[in-house]
Amino acid sequence: KRDLLEGLLGNDILAFHLRYHADNFMETVGTELESHLDWDRLQVRRGDHRTLVRAYPISIDFEAIFRLAESREVTEACQRLRSEQRLGGIKIGLSVDRLDYTKGIPERLEALDRFFELHPEWVGRFTYVQIGVPTRGNLEDYQAVVSDIEARCNRLNARFARGPWRPALLLKGHQDFNTLIPYYKIADLCMVSSLHDGMNLVAKEFVAASSNDHGVLLLSPFTGAARELEQALTVNPYDTEQFAEAIHLALTMPADEQKGRLERMRAKVADRNIYAWAQDILQDVVELAETNALNNRS
Ligand code: UDP
Repeated sequence: KRDLLEGLLGNDILAFHLRYHADNFMETVGTELESHLDWDRLQVRRGDHRTLVRAYPISIDFEAIFRLAESREVTEACQRLRSEQRLGGIKIGLSVDRLDYTKGIPERLEALDRFFELHPEWVGRFTYVQIGVPTRGNLEDYQAVVSDIEARCNRLNARFARGPWRPALLLKGHQDFNTLIPYYKIADLCMVSSLHDGMNLVAKEFVAASSNDHGVLLLSPFTGAARELEQALTVNPYDTEQFAEAIHLALTMPADEQKGRLERMRAKVADRNIYAWAQDILQDVVELAETNALNNRS
């Protein structure tokens, strides 16, 4: 533990997505290493080296995604997608995740199962699309997560499928980024329900791609994005009943409320975009360089 902390303190700047994670790092250093913690300037001094420990919530290129979502290519791709995946006239719930145990996918599938039980009126009218990227496939724990997700999707389909309609569509494999945009655009609901996470760019990408003012974002409070995107619906991923009801609430949300929430979230993501993120870091680099230059002179 000490080696890791000392190694990390070899950096001039340590960047975290969340202030909570930066504070946690400072506290850990405080209990493990002889060092001076400066909570006002968010820095650690150890010997004669100083490390800034700051939160820089990462973001996306909002303009580029918004423009792409509005393009004719994406509009046509949306139509193709609906017909290829047999999603014509059906409401869509989307999740895009690495198949990782922190992402809460089994808990989400549990909630979907309960949702169809509680609201059978959605049978035949709503499909959950899971884009799942296998990750760290050589580790047993990760293989187990993938098997569990596949089994739960199969069970959901075996229980509720009617004719050609399926309640769950598991699309395993990495999709090219441009291919994701039509999925974001046709989604009536985007669910990011991690059990523990950093930022969750998928949430911000969904907001940016909702150029048609349509769609509801559902976040777990354990996502970094929940701290910024306050107009999202939030749901505790461990609370199956609440989660199931939140899906119903999202699918029945009036169009003007969807639009109002999306507009406010879009404004936030547009303002705090990837360029603002880079600028924050560069400003601190400049501050650091200036202070170091002053110290060297004195
Ligand atoms: N992504 C992608 N293709 C996929 C699935 C995901 O390009 O098939 C991208 C997605 O657009 C996002 C990133 O992978 O930019 C996932 O970032 P996020 O912060 O949501 O989750 P992480 O995997 O970093 O925990």
